[in-house]
Amino acid sequence: MSPTGNRMRWLRPERSKNSSQKTAGKSFSFGMLKRAVGYLAKDAPGIFPMTLLVAAMQAAYPYIGILLSAEILTELADPGRDMEHLFFLALALVGLNFLGKRLIDFCSQVLEVMKYTAMKHVVRTVAEKAWKMDYALSADPEINETKERITHWFYGRGIMALSRQLLNIFQALLTIAISAALVVEFFRARAVGEGGMAVFLNHWSAVAVFLVLMVFSIACSILSAARGEKIYREADEAAGKPMNQMNHLLESCFTQYQRGKDIRMFQAEGLFQDRLGKLQEEFAGYYGRAHQASRILRILEQFPARVFNLLVYLFVGLKALYGAFGVGSILKYTGMVAQIGNGISRLCDSFRYFFQNFENINTFFQYLDMPNRTADGDLPLPQETLQDYEFEFRAVTFTYPGAAAPSLQNVSCRFRKGEKIAIVGRNGSGKTTFIKLLCRLCDPDQGEILLNGVDIRRYKYEEYLKFFSTVFQDYQIFAFRLGENVAAESEYQEERVKKALEEAGFGERLASLEAGLHTQLFKRFSEEGVELSGGESQKVAIARCLYKDAPYVVMDEPTAALDPVAEAEIYQRMNRFTRDKGAIFISHRLSSCCFCDRVFVFEKGQLVEQGSHGELLAAEGRYRKLWDAQARYYA
Ligand code: ADP
Repeated sequence: MSPTGNRMRWLRPERSKNSSQKTAGKSFSFGMLKRAVGYLAKDAPGIFPMTLLVAAMQAAYPYIGILLSAEILTELADPGRDMEHLFFLALALVGLNFLGKRLIDFCSQVLEVMKYTAMKHVVRTVAEKAWKMDYALSADPEINETKERITHWFYGRGIMALSRQLLNIFQALLTIAISAALVVEFFRARAVGEGGMAVFLNHWSAVAVFLVLMVFSIACSILSAARGEKIYREADEAAGKPMNQMNHLLESCFTQYQRGKDIRMFQAEGLFQDRLGKLQEEFAGYYGRAHQASRILRILEQFPARVFNLLVYLFVGLKALYGAFGVGSILKYTGMVAQIGNGISRLCDSFRYFFQNFENINTFFQYLDMPNRTADGDLPLPQETLQDYEFEFRAVTFTYPGAAAPSLQNVSCRFRKGEKIAIVGRNGSGKTTFIKLLCRLCDPDQGEILLNGVDIRRYKYEEYLKFFSTVFQDYQIFAFRLGENVAAESEYQEERVKKALEEAGFGERLASLEAGLHTQLFKRFSEEGVELSGGESQKVAIARCLYKDAPYVVMDEPTAALDPVAEAEIYQRMNRFTRDKGAIFISHRLSSCCFCDRVFVFEKGQLVEQGSHGELLAAEGRYRKLWDAQARYYA
């Protein structure tokens, strides 16, 4: 099997499970609903009881007005009316309306606060997943697309929308239940008289007509809701991609001022505006078509509901005319009809959004459940391994997710504590990939990497990571304080951090900073933030590597941004620092190879030569060519 095929075998099932567009759970399941409820309630246990309470209050609230107004009207229509009772009813109407509204507002605010508490849990777990997911997958475009979707759902959709949607469903169900009780009362009130109409009004067939119309109206609403759900789901799926791309462009290019440099210098605004315009048109087109289709559906849904309402009003009027109840009850029963209508359309809308959104909830949990292959190992790193170690790459092949060809092919080599290895080769020859595999940022598709004879995948991942101090080519300095950047934690030993910065050649710059280690880096979050030059940033990255002081040191072009004086100093210090350790350096300046014990030469993903600097020069192979090419410039 080809390396790519091999990779797909383990990667694809996970990816397809994750793909929000293609396989995101079409089905609703109570198990998933239970999980979602438990998940939201983890940090905010009161969220669902409070949701129920607010739903009950909101459902009951309109009936205060309906029932008390009906009572007042009945009392007014009675010639022997009791003024005291009337006054009491009016007072109750105003008072309960006022208190009810205040209570609903208060509980809704408490519920909002609970939602923010629940959101903290959501943000924390999503961020944790992003940090802990297999590094190779974090570069997968499909997974990044899902990640973007999830983070944009925080506020209105996905898991965070669940409480509001359940509230709407409960409220609609309660509204319908209360109205149903009034419907029963309505049918029990009997029309008076001997005529055909009175007989019909009291006959079971009148109830049947009423119920058939009601069921027909509900069925139309449900069918329209289901169809609407499908239309919007399809629009969401299609529009999600351009929308995410647009958000990404807006966030990454317009809010990060460093990117503005190239946009200005190459006058690329037009390029960005065009791209944004196209993306906007694309997603607006999907939603435009969905809105149009849903408008037509809405008419089809509302027509039977309106006909039903009209007939019920007629029915209520006739029953009142035939003496089944007084004038006050007309208000009550017409109010009931309005509430049933409200309840039904709210229930349909709520179910539509609920099922539509359930897709997002499924995707959310599929993302969180994505297995971490790096987390499989359970062997602790033995103390002896830290003291003395040897790595071995045995016929290692690796292909990036989605790439057509392997980036490393059949690489075999050994290196041990105390040895300094230089890796050289042209751009794209696989040097960085080699160290990513060594550090377990990716795992081989074929072959194995051994540490003291044990496959590194068997070690506990967190412990294995502690084995390395690294400076990657694309190291990241974060918008935190200087000291935090070096220590990679908020609590640290200031003296050690200072020493690391001095060793990395940052001492003078540190002395010039008023807030010292507490200096905020970058202006993104703070006016007082300090911007670093490329070389200064690289020194901070080197200081972070020194501060960690791990047994093995890995550096990918660690001095590319440094001036020649700083570079020479750093190499001397790194030599001292790595004296009792193992170290691998990737460098395009071949002069650094002279300080290393052995050199690995990579070409097109293969390790084509290995040996000491002298041996490789004498061998007159690829290394010799690289060396001569560079030497020409210096000569
Ligand atoms: P080097 O460090 O020698 O310049 P790399 O190891 O970074 O080379 O890359 C080796 C090959 O792998 C290149 O062809 C590069 O395009 C490819 N590659 C690197 N990173 C990725 C990635 N995340 N996804 C797909 N291909 C990648």
